[in-house]
Amino acid sequence: MKIFHPLNCFFAAVLFSAGAWALAQEHAKSASASNQQRSEDQPNMPAEDFGLVVHGGAGTIERSKMTPEREHEYRSGIERALAAGYEILKRGGSSLDATDAAVRALEDDPHFNAGKGAVFTNVGTNELDAAVMDGKTFKAGAVACLKHIKNPVSLARLVMEKSGHVMMDGEGAEAFAKENGIEIVDQKYFYTKERWDALEKVKAAEKRGGPGEKRFIISDQDRHGTVGAVALDQHGDLAAATSTGGTTNKRAGRVGDSPVIGAGTYANNATCAISATGDGEYFIRATVGHDISALMEYRGMSLKEAAQTVLDKVAKLGGTGGLIAIDRRGNIALPFNTSGMYRGYADPSGKFVIEIYK
Ligand code: ASP
Repeated sequence: MKIFHPLNCFFAAVLFSAGAWALAQEHAKSASASNQQRSEDQPNMPAEDFGLVVHGGAGTIERSKMTPEREHEYRSGIERALAAGYEILKRGGSSLDATDAAVRALEDDPHFNAGKGAVFTNVGTNELDAAVMDGKTFKAGAVACLKHIKNPVSLARLVMEKSGHVMMDGEGAEAFAKENGIEIVDQKYFYTKERWDALEKVKAAEKRGGPGEKRFIISDQDRHGTVGAVALDQHGDLAAATSTGGTTNKRAGRVGDSPVIGAGTYANNATCAISATGDGEYFIRATVGHDISALMEYRGMSLKEAAQTVLDKVAKLGGTGGLIAIDRRGNIALPFNTSGMYRGYADPSGKFVIEIYK
């Protein structure tokens, strides 16, 4: 039987307070480490624990060449997309619904190269690609070379949910859309004078100086572009959606990175959700979306570090562009290696932050 002794009590108290102090130190250390990581990675987690990032394409976007009116139009487009997605997340809706709504808003806006306002192929048609991925179930849907679908992202979602497939293209995809009541439009719907002029300029330049010449004739902004959204919802689920008209003067039938799952679009609840924009051929070869996720999952990299590492890989191959990313904790990253990228996110207070230039 232990005998109570005041000295024992004294030692116990000392030991206890030393332990508590060490514990407190440990807590403080890990709290400051996680704060540091968060601020480095630009956390955008509002009090409600959800996050949303959108983009409207990366390229040579120079302040000196932008009028205040045009800048205002682009900013408003990004803002509408953020508002559409944010509203859904705020009331507890899914990241899939939020990314779908944000991308639809950008597809309907003629300033961006997706849906209305898409660029033209070498034969004067518009051919649209899109994809969605659900980070919770690993389900994905993608469509390519669509000519008559008003909102390709919605058809991508339908492919994911109802077709039993992951990827569909052309006439078969459009027949599936018709069967399911997706809105069909005439090719004329996608026309904008600006994109048509861009095609003519590229064609004229090619006649004069060969394919390489086109880079100097029209801006990147006229040459390509894409729209996309990534989100984390209040249930902890991640999703990504991307939609594009591809690149001006692309060969009819060309498919870019946007609908390639693991390249331009990717989501995994264990890691992150990604939507990319840029020279699609390079983003496909670099398997951008999946590589970022894999660096986080297998190497333990932060979102920011993984995203930059993979974008550097694209640059080494010769590609330009950018991407938006969000991880399961709500950290975000928006790296790009061009002079600008239309982009926006909701900050922790719910305020929309919209940026264009570097
Ligand atoms: N990535 C798109 C494509 O290659 C174009 C872009 O985002 O600029 O189709």
